[in-house]
Amino acid sequence: MSVTTEKDEVWEDIASRRDHRGAHLVSHQKAWDVETRALFDVHTHTQFAAFREDQDAVIRRALDAGVWMVNVGTQRDTSLAAVEVAHRYDEGVYAAVGLHPIHTEKSHHDTQELGITTSLQTPVYKDVVEKGFMSRGETFDYAYYKKLAEDPKVVAIGECGLDYYRLEEKTKETQHKAFEQQIALARDVQKPLMIHCRNAFSDLIEVLVSHKDGLPEPRGIIHFFSGSREDARRLLDLGFSFSFGGVLTFARDYDEVVCYIPIERIVLETDAPYITPVPYRGKRNEPAYIIEIAKTIAEIKGMSFDVAAAGTFKNTRAIFTV
Ligand SMILES: [Zn+2]
Repeated sequence: MSVTTEKDEVWEDIASRRDHRGAHLVSHQKAWDVETRALFDVHTHTQFAAFREDQDAVIRRALDAGVWMVNVGTQRDTSLAAVEVAHRYDEGVYAAVGLHPIHTEKSHHDTQELGITTSLQTPVYKDVVEKGFMSRGETFDYAYYKKLAEDPKVVAIGECGLDYYRLEEKTKETQHKAFEQQIALARDVQKPLMIHCRNAFSDLIEVLVSHKDGLPEPRGIIHFFSGSREDARRLLDLGFSFSFGGVLTFARDYDEVVCYIPIERIVLETDAPYITPVPYRGKRNEPAYIIEIAKTIAEIKGMSFDVAAAGTFKNTRAIFTV
């Protein structure tokens, strides 16, 4: 495909310019030319409660290292917070807004995400602690999310999708409805999708096939892709890219699918504060650690770090048009 060849040339050009300067990117992160915006963390959550104390320091640490990021919303409050955070920085910090499938019918409660707010000091709180769920989830409010989605700092709609991991049968329909509304929103504002999918790839692909018309291209990102090679093939055909994160640094389960997906359809994520990569296991994750993911992708695919970094970065810019 001629597009691929042209992209390869651009990446090689960037890589050789870096080599010329003698910047050994793997071991000398500081030596990066920050102007090239070396790496992009496409899926992170520095707006979550886990970063309440030191959010600005965490974000600046990443920006100083040449790492750009998208803070991804999971429900009303975290979506709004993602947009607010993005506006505090001139460049390099963007937002995605949406309703995560686990916050529909019943809302899974994670204190790293939402903290323990006063509204939870009630009988509901007992449920949260004992079962990890609040009894009432969120219904997707199209007008609320559309207003956020139109903000120029918003580069994607999500995370949205399907999650059958904790599913009770009756919540399936609610998840589908919320997902379809968010696909409609992506079409409406012409922004790509940031998709979360767990144990539901065949249904997800079915929904995407029947609702793909009118969506922008590239179509978006399947975050923390955990599907099969066949799922990957179908989603590649639909115009999606795939983000991989910290799990690659400590499990080999995804190596085969990482090898299968071309580098120009791979992007990088930390999913911070979760899934911290080696060698930081046991600590809270943060966007600056994205370098470990880039190193691992390069290793798995047997390519130089420069080519992997430039390839994933180029792809990210094309998806988010930033
Ligand atoms: Zn996430």
